[in-house]
Amino acid sequence: MSLPVPVLKPDATIGIIGGGQLGRMLALAAARLGFRCHVFAPSPDSCAFDVVHRVTIADYTDTAALDRFATDVDVITYEFENIPAETAMFLSARKPVLPDPVVLATTQDRLVEKNFIQKLGIPTAPFVEVSSPDALKSALEAVGRPAVLKTRRFGYDGKGQITIRNGTYPSAAWREIGGQPAILEGFVKFDREISVVAARGRDGSVACFDVTENQHRDHILKTSRAPAAVSPTVAARAREIAESIATAFDYVGVLAVEMFVVSKGGGHEVLVNEIAPRVHNSGHWTIDGCSVSQFEQHIRAVAGWPLAQPIRHSSVEMTNLIGSEVDDYAAWLAVPGVALHLYGKGQTRPGRKMGHVTRVLSGPK
Ligand code: AMP
Repeated sequence: MSLPVPVLKPDATIGIIGGGQLGRMLALAAARLGFRCHVFAPSPDSCAFDVVHRVTIADYTDTAALDRFATDVDVITYEFENIPAETAMFLSARKPVLPDPVVLATTQDRLVEKNFIQKLGIPTAPFVEVSSPDALKSALEAVGRPAVLKTRRFGYDGKGQITIRNGTYPSAAWREIGGQPAILEGFVKFDREISVVAARGRDGSVACFDVTENQHRDHILKTSRAPAAVSPTVAARAREIAESIATAFDYVGVLAVEMFVVSKGGGHEVLVNEIAPRVHNSGHWTIDGCSVSQFEQHIRAVAGWPLAQPIRHSSVEMTNLIGSEVDDYAAWLAVPGVALHLYGKGQTRPGRKMGHVTRVLSGPK
């Protein structure tokens, strides 16, 4: 049984699990509404620490530290979906955790997630469970090539996945992903990649941000543009999908649904690729391009406050500053209409998200 969830007063303390840039931007939004934040993260270098009231540096399995953290906060949320299930359970016995950690059991495992999505009647790429090199060979016969082999757990930013093309040896692909339980997906020849960031309040109301169009480079999100260049029918379908997923989870907070738009019979079909049970990189544009940001919506939802009606006030493009691209920050400062966000991460590493810029492209349309 979940604990009763209080409606927070402005001086309440929100606990955030995870200390990366998402936690940092959540804490900044929370501070604007008068809340304090306490971040729990294992690394002393966590960039969210710079902007919060209190921090706990401890492992996710340190029950004494988790207990102290739970005592100090009024509700707990997370910016990171790979929290060990035992950690989430330990915390939810002490303080309300929102979104409910049962969601994690679905989204932490690509096989469970894909089955959940299909049960809602929402299409995905064709997929087959793969748990051995032999299973991979028969899965390739069923799915065909090219195909994408993905570990069931702990994949992000293209980690734990490999595209199998003509000429790729299944045994080599299996080794490449570390011989872990996986799924094999048919390769989707998509027209566009889009996402919907949606907030769901405690009262069950859902507010979606405008559909965003995403481009990846080396499997890492590079740019997000809002609104996506899709027809009103595709946009409505994408929002409907996000809303039905949020409702099926009885979700409280912000989630993102990543989707592929494919051509089908003269029209378009929307397939779901992945659900992120948290604020999402493709929603960063909402800080500068919308009347309310995804971070504020999430804080409102977990606080039991009403959601805002998001009104996008311009067309925008968000570009991630990855690795050494962050060194160009001074040049970005000089570009008219650009908002610069640096995450305060000390060390630059290839592939590391160091900041982002949002460029206002025009007025509302
Ligand atoms: P994921 O880790 O599942 O979010 O995948 C990262 C990126 O890889 C996606 O955003 C796509 O650009 C690409 N990708 C993933 N799965 C597929 C697929 N089945 N077909 C084509 N591209 C894919």
